[in-house]
Amino acid sequence: MLGESTYDVCVVGGGPAGLAAAIALRQQDFSVIVLDCAVPPIDKACGEGLMPDSVGALKKLGVTLPPGVGFPFRGIRFLDDRSSVTADFPNGMGMAVRRTVLQRLLIEAASRAGAVLKWGAKNVHLHEGGVAVDGALLRTRWVVGADGQNSQIRDEAGLDGYRTERRRFGFRRHFQIAPWSSYMEVYWGPQCQAYVSPVAEEETCVAVISRNPRLRVREALAELPELRRRIGDALPSSREMGALSMTRKLRRVYRDRLALLGDASGSVDAITGEGMCLCFKQAAVLAQAIKDGRLSDYQAQHAELSSRPHAMAALMFVALESSTGLRRRVLATLAKRRRVFESLLAIHVGRSSFFDLWPRCVFEFGSAFLAG
Ligand SMILES: Cc1cc2nc3c(=O)[nH]c(=O)nc-3n(C[C@H](O)[C@H](O)[C@H](O)COP(=O)(O)OP(=O)(O)OC[C@H]3O[C@@H](n4cnc5c(N)ncnc54)[C@H](O)[C@@H]3O)c2cc1C
Repeated sequence: MLGESTYDVCVVGGGPAGLAAAIALRQQDFSVIVLDCAVPPIDKACGEGLMPDSVGALKKLGVTLPPGVGFPFRGIRFLDDRSSVTADFPNGMGMAVRRTVLQRLLIEAASRAGAVLKWGAKNVHLHEGGVAVDGALLRTRWVVGADGQNSQIRDEAGLDGYRTERRRFGFRRHFQIAPWSSYMEVYWGPQCQAYVSPVAEEETCVAVISRNPRLRVREALAELPELRRRIGDALPSSREMGALSMTRKLRRVYRDRLALLGDASGSVDAITGEGMCLCFKQAAVLAQAIKDGRLSDYQAQHAELSSRPHAMAALMFVALESSTGLRRRVLATLAKRRRVFESLLAIHVGRSSFFDLWPRCVFEFGSAFLAG
């Protein structure tokens, strides 16, 4: 039992979003408590890739990945049965890190910053003056709902007006195999995409995303012969986990003194690899908005932060997921015009804007595409 206690902010959910918020709020000198119903190590189906902008956003929160943690990757490679195209990040290296390891680092950083963390906190509900947990009242001035995709806090706050544009199914599994590439690879198949992140010297994460709820990693490998050849007879090193990958936009992400954060506040498709980056960036802007007492600022910046990943996901879906014939032509063209792929990756990781690169990309890509 917590008894009746008082904090400036109660964060519900101790995933990447909630822990990042705790760190950012402590940096603004708020007293913070995080409540999570689970007990670490908390694993989740995830591609485990942090793009360079995610690594940068973490660094801004004061969280650095110590040497030996995770595995760096220098860019992205797209492959299908006929073509392959590769581009380096223009803004540093990405890092692939096991979810459980990343969570441990975030927990250590939040504890060092002075946040109080309560794990195994069941029955957390909004209550007048704060939050009720296990029957006790926690008085808080602000509440942050960072309790993931199926956020109960979102429902209780009546912020459940959202539009779900796409719902896909993700499964991930690790294999005991040394990374064979210094790139994060995305294999495009007829029914699915598999993305492969090198998480350690001898361990590789394979995440499969598709519209088919029954397409598990093993079945996906049967559709992706090149990836199946790479994995060979490597043994799995984790049990398979599944999760929904949602493209979801909320009408509002705050009400009175309550704000939603991370997947609770809407989400981008997993193919973008930007979910955690959004969590870290949202946490920083939310802490500032709470300090300024203006959650309307958070609403505006939240929309701005997620607009680029939403746009990039939409582009990938139209060009690469809608039909096998179109995908083959697009990838073959990008393989011939690697500069266009590099420009698109620069936009994706926030290093360039659509306006800077769009006219040149369209012309260069369009002429090569039409020339066949
Ligand atoms: C298949 C797949 C692959 C992905 N790959 C990537 C990738 O490569 N890179 C990337 O950046 N992003 C990726 N993502 C997205 C990323 O996983 C999410 O954006 C991220 O986990 C969101 O973090 P969160 O803290 O908002 O939610 P979560 O990680 O879901 O954490 C929510 C926390 O809240 C707790 N909680 C839930 N309900 C309650 C409750 N009622 N009371 C108290 N606590 C509660 C949970 O125990 C959990 O700890 C992927 C997603 C999927 C589905």
